[in-house]
Amino acid sequence: MARHIYVHNPFCARKCPYCDFYSVTETSLCEAYYQAAVREAELTGSVISDSAGTNPITDIGGRDTVYFGGGTPSLPDGRFICELLNAVRKAFNIASDAEITIEVNPSSASTEKLYGYRKAGFNRISLGVQSLDDEVLKTLGRLHDSKGAADAIEKIRKAGFENISADLITGVPGETLDGIKKDIQTFKDLGVKHISTYSLSIEEGTPFFDRYKKTIEDLVPPDTEREMYHGTRDFLNEIGYETYEISNSALPGFKSIHNSSYWNSCEYFAVGAGAHGFLGDIRYAHRDDVRAYIEEMNTITADDLRAFLNGNKSGLKSLYAEEMLTKEDRMREIPFLRLRTTEGILLDEFKKMFGIEFEDVFADAVKRNIDKGLLERNERTLRLTRSGLDFANAVIEDFL
Ligand code: SF4
Repeated sequence: MARHIYVHNPFCARKCPYCDFYSVTETSLCEAYYQAAVREAELTGSVISDSAGTNPITDIGGRDTVYFGGGTPSLPDGRFICELLNAVRKAFNIASDAEITIEVNPSSASTEKLYGYRKAGFNRISLGVQSLDDEVLKTLGRLHDSKGAADAIEKIRKAGFENISADLITGVPGETLDGIKKDIQTFKDLGVKHISTYSLSIEEGTPFFDRYKKTIEDLVPPDTEREMYHGTRDFLNEIGYETYEISNSALPGFKSIHNSSYWNSCEYFAVGAGAHGFLGDIRYAHRDDVRAYIEEMNTITADDLRAFLNGNKSGLKSLYAEEMLTKEDRMREIPFLRLRTTEGILLDEFKKMFGIEFEDVFADAVKRNIDKGLLERNERTLRLTRSGLDFANAVIEDFL
C-alpha cells in the first residue's frame, strides 16, 4: 500500500507579483528550517503505525510518492534538500520505486544541484517556466528569460532526469493562444513529458491585484480566457499529451502519481511550515510561519505529536487541525476532487468506500447538472462535459 508525503519549502529569492502562496525571502533561516524539517520527519516516522496513511481502496496507483513543493525548493543549498529527502525516505519507509518530485526554478537550477538531486533519489522535476515569451515573463516579474528556461531543461536532462514537467500560466495580459501553442511545441521538442497549465488568477493582497483588479476583464475578456483554455487543451491533445485533470496533461506513462493521489482521496503526510496533510479523519496543517515551525519542531515531544495525529491534541504553535471529517464530509469531497479529473467520479470506487451508491446520496445535483448538459454519465463514471469544464466550480459547488 502506498504512502504520500508533501514537503513544503517556503523560501523564494523574491516574491512574484501575482503569487499568494506562502513563501518568505529570509533565507538566513534555511539551515534551522531544514534541521527542524528533518526532526519532524523522523519524529513522525517514529510515532505512526506501519499502515498509517495508506488505504487499499484509494491507493489505485500503488506507488509511494514524495513531493518537494514551494516556494522554491531549488533555492536553498542542495545539501539541505538532499539530507531532508534522505530523512523522509527512511522515516516513512518509502519504497525504492517511489515517484519523487522536486519543483525547480530555472533561475536556481544549477548543474551541481541537479546532479545532487538525482543522486539523492529525486526522479521527477517540475520546472516553473510559466512562459517562453520574454514579454510575458517580464509581465509576470519572473527572474528567468526564455533562454534560461530552455537551458534549464537541457541541464535537467543531462543530469539524468527523463520525467520532466513544466508549468505554463495562461490568460496573462499580452499573451496569445498562438504564443502558448508555440511554447508547448518547444516543450515537446525539448523532451518535456508533462505540462501543467494554470489560468492567471488575480489574488487580493498581491501587487497584481492593485495593478489589474479593474482592468483584467478588458485586457483578457472571460471569453478569450475560455478560448485560450480550450485551444490550449485541444493543442496539447493533438500533439500527444493526454489531459487527465483540468490543468494537467501528460505523454503516455507520465501522469503525476503524487497529484493523482490527492484526486483519489488518498491520505498524505505534510512536512514543513505551510504544508497541509490528511490522515484518517483529520485534515491538518502547519501555520504559515517559519519561525513558529522551527521552534515547535525543536521542542515538540513524540507523545504530543502522536496525540495530535490521533486528533487528541490542540494548542500547538505550528500544527493545527483544519477539519475533522465526518463520513458525509468525505462523501462530499469526492465530487470536489474527482470532477477535476478527466476520468470523473468512479461510481464503483465510491460504493466500495462508503457502502452506498453515489447517485443515492446526490440524486438531485446529478440530475440537475446532467439536464443542463454540464455532466455526463458513462456506464460507471460521471464526469464534466466540454461545456461543463467552463462551469466546473459551479457544478462542484452544487454537490457541497
Ligand atoms: S517563485 Fe513561485 S512560490 Fe515563489 S513567489 Fe514566485 S510564484 Fe510564488
